[in-house]
Amino acid sequence: MENILEKLKKGNERFIKGVSINPNQSLDRCKETSKGQNPFVIVVTCSDSRVPPEIIFDVGIGDIFVIRLAGNILTQEGIASIEYAAAHLGVEQVVILGHTNCGAVKAAVETNISTEKAKLSEYLQALIDKIDPNLVIDDKDINKSISKSTDNLVINSTNDLKTILNKLIPNNSINIAGAKYNIETGEVVFFN
Ligand SMILES: [Zn+2]
Repeated sequence: MENILEKLKKGNERFIKGVSINPNQSLDRCKETSKGQNPFVIVVTCSDSRVPPEIIFDVGIGDIFVIRLAGNILTQEGIASIEYAAAHLGVEQVVILGHTNCGAVKAAVETNISTEKAKLSEYLQALIDKIDPNLVIDDKDINKSISKSTDNLVINSTNDLKTILNKLIPNNSINIAGAKYNIETGEVVFFN
C-alpha cells in the first residue's frame, strides 16, 4: 500500500507547490468511468468546505471513494460505505483525514468545558456525542485541546475501523492510515 500513500503524498506536494496537474478531470474521464468505478483509495474526512480531497491530493474523477461528515466521524452508514468500497470495489487503502481548526471538534471541546450547557438540537448533540469520547482537554489552552482532540479522534477512528473491517472482511489486506490536513498551508501530514 506504500505506493498508494506515496501517490497521495506526491499529489499533495504538487498542490502545495502550486504545480497541480489536475489529472482525470476531463469529460473523457467521465465517459471512461461511467462503465464502472475503480477508486484507489477511500478517504474519510470532514464536510468542511476547505478540505476537498480531490484537490488537495491532486487527483480526479473516479480516484477517491469519499466519506464526509462534520468532524470526520465514523457512523454506521459511513462504515457501510467503506465496507462496500473495500469488499465490492476492492479498495485496499483507507485514509482518515482530520484537519486543523475543525469546527465540529471545536464545538465538542467547547461543549465539554462549558459550565452552562447550551441546548443543541438532537442531531447536533448526536454529532458532539460521537466526538466527545475522543477529546483531550488541556484546560489552559483551547487551541491545544482542539488540536490534540483532532489527532486523537483520527487515531481512535483508525483503530476502531481496523477492528470492524477485520470482522467484516476476514483476511483482508486493507491498510488504514491517519492523517491531518492543515487548512492554512495545504499540507497533509500522515501519522506514524
Ligand atoms: Zn472539520
